Amino acid sequence: MVEAYDALLDRAMANITNRESSGERFEIPIASVSVIGARTIVHNFAEIVDRLNRDPQHVLKYLAKEMATAGSFEGGKGYFQGRFSRDTVNRLIGVYSNRFVICPVCKRPDTRVEKKERLSFLVCEACGARSSILTT
Ligand SMILES: [Zn+2]
Repeated sequence: MVEAYDALLDRAMANITNRESSGERFEIPIASVSVIGARTIVHNFAEIVDRLNRDPQHVLKYLAKEMATAGSFEGGKGYFQGRFSRDTVNRLIGVYSNRFVICPVCKRPDTRVEKKERLSFLVCEACGARSSILTT
């Protein structure tokens, strides 16, 4: 039983690796945005965050801060107080990606965030670069 589980896990890991390393272009899904009443909903928020490979709460917090509003993540969707255009949301996701995901040295997205005391670093799995991230 344990072996079967391990094999399954290996296969799952292999799939993840394949998905991340396939193709040279890093494309973030375009945010599907609608405004209902005084709220803006990002329908495919979970999909975007998954592609960015970052904590949904971190992405949410960043977007909310940039839009000077409050946000929440519920059932795979992102909710923001106020009315924001699709362009605004997509632009900010692009900014987030450049800042917290894309390696500034080799421009690849195969990175992870490493925290040391109060500093955050973007560590690139592709080229090994370690860049500091401004977290203001
Ligand atoms: Zn790199």
